[in-house]
Amino acid sequence: PCTARDVTAAVRRGADAMAEHRDELVELDRAIGDGDHGENMDRGFRAVLAQLDLADPPTPGAVLKLVATSLISSVGGASGPLFGTAFLRAASGAGEAEELDGATLAASLRAAVDGVAARGKAEPEDKTMIDALLPAVRAAEERAASGADPAEVLAAAAEAATTGARSTVPLIARKGRASYLGDRSAGHLDPGARSAALLLAAFADVTG
Ligand code: ADP
Ligand code: MG
Ligand code: MG
Repeated sequence: PCTARDVTAAVRRGADAMAEHRDELVELDRAIGDGDHGENMDRGFRAVLAQLDLADPPTPGAVLKLVATSLISSVGGASGPLFGTAFLRAASGAGEAEELDGATLAASLRAAVDGVAARGKAEPEDKTMIDALLPAVRAAEERAASGADPAEVLAAAAEAATTGARSTVPLIARKGRASYLGDRSAGHLDPGARSAALLLAAFADVTG
């Protein structure tokens, strides 16, 4: 079972992860971008926490929608609208359900990733968050298909996202600011892939 309370706790843990890894994400973005990714994500999730203190969304979908609107309104960089779209699509995927099971969770994740792909037009191996998110959703779908519960589905997603993020290191960026560097973008971990993996790991940490 994955209720509004569970999703809220997961989102709070995600916010903690963004605060804890702020400097690391800044460093990663300094290497191949403009050095603001950690700041963007931390600011976005602090806005999420502020909204969660004001509202008590009744369903998983409502929590996810609050995350989306908070991120979209507080993050100016490329990552704000992209993660915002992800959470907005995940919210639609969750609908009005009181609880998510493994299958609905995987479907929400699929909707999220398809939303990011549609909005950002990144293909696999373009060295973006897609390289963490796509393997994550595939792993989630595979686990859900064998009847796994939300905790198992998220654990599989988080593990695949970590591996996927790591796979961005040798790649040459073809989307976003890092693409301006051409070949010189190779040899660095993509900041957005790293934050996507950190978020999924944080969510997996509290879902049980
Ligand atoms: P900005 O590049 O505007 O400063 P951020 O630094 O917050 O924004 O985010 C950069 C991250 O956004 C990149 O590391 C990459 O993962 C992701 N990103 C950028 N463009 C795209 C895109 N078109 N599709 C998917 N992800 C993208
Ligand atoms: Mg940046
Ligand atoms: Mg920027």
